Amino acid sequence: MQTQSTVTYDVIIAGAGPVGLFLACELRFAGVAVLVLEQAQDPHSPLKQLPFGLRGLTIPTTEALYRRGLLDEIVAAQRARSGAIKSAAHWMQRARKPAGHFAGIQFFQDDIDVAKWSWRLPTPADAHVAVDMETLETVLAARAARLGVEIRRGFGVTAITASEQDVVVQAAGEIFRGGWLVGCDGGRSTVRKLCGFDFVGTDPEFTGYSVAAELADPEKLSPGRNFTPTGMYTFAEPGTIALVDFDGGAFHRSAPITIEHVKAVLRHVSCTDVTISALRLATTWTDRARQASTYRRGRVLLAGDAAHTHSPLGGQGLNLGLGDAMNLGWKLAATIQGHAPDDLLDSYTQERHPVGAQILDWSRAQVAIMRPEPGSRALQAIIRDLIDTRDGATYFAERVRGVSLRYDLGGRHPLVGRSVPDFELSDGTRIGERLRDAKGLLLDFDARASLRMLARRWSDRIAYVGSEPKDALGLSAVLVRPDGFVAWASDGPPDHDAAAEAASRWFGD
Ligand SMILES: Cc1cc2nc3c(=O)[nH]c(=O)nc-3n(C[C@H](O)[C@H](O)[C@H](O)COP(=O)(O)OP(=O)(O)OC[C@H]3O[C@@H](n4cnc5c(N)ncnc54)[C@H](O)[C@@H]3O)c2cc1C
Repeated sequence: MQTQSTVTYDVIIAGAGPVGLFLACELRFAGVAVLVLEQAQDPHSPLKQLPFGLRGLTIPTTEALYRRGLLDEIVAAQRARSGAIKSAAHWMQRARKPAGHFAGIQFFQDDIDVAKWSWRLPTPADAHVAVDMETLETVLAARAARLGVEIRRGFGVTAITASEQDVVVQAAGEIFRGGWLVGCDGGRSTVRKLCGFDFVGTDPEFTGYSVAAELADPEKLSPGRNFTPTGMYTFAEPGTIALVDFDGGAFHRSAPITIEHVKAVLRHVSCTDVTISALRLATTWTDRARQASTYRRGRVLLAGDAAHTHSPLGGQGLNLGLGDAMNLGWKLAATIQGHAPDDLLDSYTQERHPVGAQILDWSRAQVAIMRPEPGSRALQAIIRDLIDTRDGATYFAERVRGVSLRYDLGGRHPLVGRSVPDFELSDGTRIGERLRDAKGLLLDFDARASLRMLARRWSDRIAYVGSEPKDALGLSAVLVRPDGFVAWASDGPPDHDAAAEAASRWFGD
């Protein structure tokens, strides 16, 4: 490694993908000095644009974006391309509104029993939002730049020396020194490999293909999602195709993707003799499911695909990664600023690793019922029956949309560990808006509770909100972490000692 040393940063982030950029914004909110090193010189790529770049956002993601004032910006930026989104999703148009799918088996909005989600209140974050990666990254990069994040493109991290005091990183022949390093550098993370993180899980069963092509005889393919005796394909006219070929993942990254190869795989999987006359764009992926066994080793952390990879079929990877960033940002900032409790940073792995493990299993379960074999076909039929019931659709909606997310934070109240309901206060503002500056909140709904004095002890970290909401859901007081999750709640006269204990647990003394 060269010896020349440049500026020192509180945090260096490897990777300016959506997770790295969102995390950078979270850290800057707290005034932390952040450098983002990005390998690619050019942020644009056809794979980030429609149709392949389209990503559906789950409720925890739309809530996180809403709570930081980014949701409207992203929806507005995407609106310019929404005509293209409509045509890409045209095959999905049905008389009933689809609400999601499990291994391609659809469930519908009118089957979902939202009354079961009694801890939720209507919120702008309920919106079904889909965004392409390029739009998302453009909005996040602009926000990061406005907040003062330094982003260097064309700087791929190639060497790392981590000690107890700091982390020294080499990129594009330059040396950068940081207090902490976060690897947000994607599924083949250099940070993860160089820093000795275990990456454990299961090997792939298939190679997946996303293809844009011109077809000589498109009528030979059926529009929509099709399970066949040899695999699965989805077809959106005129020539957008996704294919799953159960080859054990053998083809992925093993050879150039030629028109002859794609034609052969398409014919095999679709069981037709369809002809591709021109291949415009093609990429491959697999269902490899692996996860780092810890997300922290000393001063190095992982987030996003660097920490976990799985099949994109369930549409969860981006959402999982943005959830990591929302969970990590305030904890790392508090640690740097010296007021974090000793174990705050380790709660990042404790909370997010189980969420990642669940998503990996969710994607494995989908692969298991997609295999072209009789046992999987039989399971598919059972899932079809179950997903068509009210309880079934509600269960799948909870899992797919992320509504069931709850961290195990201890505490007896059923709201603890859940996302705070979006209470509407007497002045017309909502809790989501009050979380914009990434501080904690102490909600005091009962004038007699008088928690104001208590909040003063943490006034630089916790904002006191003494107001009666339109619907308090029977609660008298709630302590909310900067990521919008409930740390403590009370139905009756609040126990001040319990509230103070929870505040110390998450905000330090
Ligand atoms: C076909 C497909 C469809 C998908 N659909 C969905 C969906 O519907 N919903 C969903 O939630 N997810 C979906 N995903 C997954 C989602 O795209 C990823 O989970 C998400 O992009 C991860 O974001 P990230 O920031 O962690 O990583 P990435 O987006 O991979 O970004 C990593 C960044 O790090 C950079 N980098 C790499 N190495 C280095 C280095 N050494 N130094 C510096 N920088 C480096 C890269 O250039 C890149 O910019 C899909 C994925 C695929 C392939």
